[in-house]
Amino acid sequence: MPDQPGPDTPRVIRIRPEDNVAIVLNDGGLPAGTELPDGLRLAEAVPQGHKVNLIPFEEGTPIRRYGQMIGTAARAVPAGSWIEESLVRMPAAPSLGSLPLATAVPPPPPPLPGHTFEGYRNADGTAGTRNLLAISTSVQCVAGVVDVAVKRVRETLLPRYPNVDGVVALTHTYGCGVAINAPGAEVPVRTIRNLARNPNFGGAPLVVGLGCEKLAPEWLLAEQGRPAAGAGDAPGIVRLQDPSRQGFGPMVDAIVAAAGKRLEVLDRRRRVTCPAADLVVGVQCGGSDAFSGVTANPVVGFASDLLVRAGATVMFSEVTEVRDAIGMLTPRAASLDVARALVREMAWYDSYLERGEADRSANTTPGNKRGGLANIVEKALGSVVKSGTSAISGVLAPGERVREKGLIFAATPASDFICGTLQLASGMTLHVLTTGRGTPYGLAAVPVLKISSRSELSRRWPDLIDLDAGRVATGEASIEQLGWELFLLMLDIASGRRQSWAEHWGLANELSLFNPGPVT
Ligand code: CA
Repeated sequence: MPDQPGPDTPRVIRIRPEDNVAIVLNDGGLPAGTELPDGLRLAEAVPQGHKVNLIPFEEGTPIRRYGQMIGTAARAVPAGSWIEESLVRMPAAPSLGSLPLATAVPPPPPPLPGHTFEGYRNADGTAGTRNLLAISTSVQCVAGVVDVAVKRVRETLLPRYPNVDGVVALTHTYGCGVAINAPGAEVPVRTIRNLARNPNFGGAPLVVGLGCEKLAPEWLLAEQGRPAAGAGDAPGIVRLQDPSRQGFGPMVDAIVAAAGKRLEVLDRRRRVTCPAADLVVGVQCGGSDAFSGVTANPVVGFASDLLVRAGATVMFSEVTEVRDAIGMLTPRAASLDVARALVREMAWYDSYLERGEADRSANTTPGNKRGGLANIVEKALGSVVKSGTSAISGVLAPGERVREKGLIFAATPASDFICGTLQLASGMTLHVLTTGRGTPYGLAAVPVLKISSRSELSRRWPDLIDLDAGRVATGEASIEQLGWELFLLMLDIASGRRQSWAEHWGLANELSLFNPGPVT
């Protein structure tokens, strides 16, 4: 948390009138004895982003934030106390059996016509925000060779193709040494397959395989399921064990040659004006704090609503950060089928965690807690705000391709890298990450915009944070103003008129597959 004491007056925020805690906004927190604007005096010092109780708590008093119960008081404390983590007893997760399904479907929002971006149109109707050559891989064994080949492509070929933005190696740890027929294996397999089909790669995936792996390269070129045995060598596959190649040099040459053919095609593409409806934006949070749900996530939620009004696709994710707020989401499902699909994904994840003898409380990090988030309930209530207020029009299982427009729940773990990888597989072309604690996250395949929940972080990382939502807490800007600012920034970045900081610096985290199946 920031060190410098703010010279300004004490500021706290209570989200809903029924809340009995408020969040301290001042940089550096507030000392004991501080008189709050409503006359309450702090019984002890409260750090920035942390909670203060506005009424005396008995043991068992329900603690309310966002108008919801985030837990009960573990012991009696006077009003004005610092409600730190050990004072908050976490409630049980909401039962999945009795949720309201599609009972409060928001009406279709007023259309928002006239907004466009300059994108790369694909044969399947999708539109990319970047023009990238992707080299996919069927197995980790080939990753080293692919990396050498990619380096050579960047150095010797790419300068000759000025309309191509870059080369991305889709390397990962899957492909062999795994139980590929076990339940759960379909998740990494379809993720790898769909990653190569991301709209930013222009179609026609190029796959490097080894030759003896379980995940045969042909699987990755098939639309779905598994191709018949002996499908043979398709164009677009380079197999390193091909007996016609003697040694390492010819392997690299073969990849570089195949890349050259793809670059010829990609270089002929040009940006064309596309309606904002062709955008596919994935949103998630990373390194959240108690401000995330008050500043950054509501700004993203406002921008999500604008995107939905413009006809675009917005994916929100992170099952463990949705689970405790599921009762607020199932009523918003556009149909009973969508509501049941939401419940299905929650139930699948519950049993996945159970098998690992964990539950959703494993989600919160030490940094979340230092940032003021007592538990996963509080984190989830602040997290789902990113979804805005639109009807939820579809649900994707992990790694499935998105086909509908509107607000989509794409089920993924909350891990930034796994969520980002799965949203890429689903077809995301622009990524928005909100952060409170600060993470320098980036992805090679799409621009990643980072939004800080506090201005202190934006000042400390001026060349990493793209938009400072802390201005909501300081009163410098409203959620609506910053939501519009984000919406327009997304269109600029999608069009290549601007780069996000992560893109500017070439920051890219590795892809990280979700593999719920056994490893052999
Ligand atoms: Ca995350």
